[in-house]
Amino acid sequence: MNPEQLQLTIGWLYPTLMSTYGDRGNVICLQQRAQWRGIEVQVLPLDLEGPPEQLHQVDVLMGGGAQDRQQEIVMRDLKGVKSQILQEKIEAGTPGVFTCGAPQLLGHYYEPALGQRIEGLGLFDLTSKHPGVDARRCIGNVVFEVTASPLAQELETMLGTKPVIIGFENHGGRTYLGKVQPLGRVVKGYGNNGEDGTEGAFYRNAIATYSHGPLLPKNPFIADWLIQKALHRKYQTTVALEPLDDNLATQARQAMFKRLALGVKA
Ligand code: GLN
Repeated sequence: MNPEQLQLTIGWLYPTLMSTYGDRGNVICLQQRAQWRGIEVQVLPLDLEGPPEQLHQVDVLMGGGAQDRQQEIVMRDLKGVKSQILQEKIEAGTPGVFTCGAPQLLGHYYEPALGQRIEGLGLFDLTSKHPGVDARRCIGNVVFEVTASPLAQELETMLGTKPVIIGFENHGGRTYLGKVQPLGRVVKGYGNNGEDGTEGAFYRNAIATYSHGPLLPKNPFIADWLIQKALHRKYQTTVALEPLDDNLATQARQAMFKRLALGVKA
């Protein structure tokens, strides 16, 4: 198919409430990498009190981090029809990235340091809990190898090497996985809880991660994987994406690996 005939709609969950630590960079990166290939992109803000039916138009979902207070407001808005459509979309394989506060909301619940438990969508079999106001936050650069199947294999085929993600984490909550697969294995940093070596979760085509960075500009292969998945679902055909010059991103990754004294190939 000719890329000029292709169109993607990025559904951006609560842009003003959920975009900590530069997570809007994920939306910009995804949009730009698709446009560079000649694909038409619409960014659809899914805001408070917006019509739930909008969610039906979405081909890729993006949800950024949020602080506890914003998470509560978001969860109140997401109840009912919106949560139902969102669940249907994710179950049906709509690709997406959900960062930090966002996956906490996709799990069963998030217990903040202060205040009441925030019930989640229960879509990911995970729970999150803040250990208390005196507990140290998990802050710093994070590096992990993607291990979730079939994502890890698909990325390895794309890259010709094991997929390693570099990002930045800043969270008080600790996440504990149930039956859902972890997204990856921590090489450096805390990941889900600083204890069990897991980072994030992967369900259908939804990526949940503690990694800001933002994630996509630092790991552009994830953006291309999302574009490819979204196009495949929408047009029922595999679209080969023209390679882009990622030299600057590669250099930035190499510099970080060196700084963190990790012998990882960028
Ligand atoms: N409120 C959450 C926490 O501190 C999420 C923070 C974030 O999204 N960066 O764990």
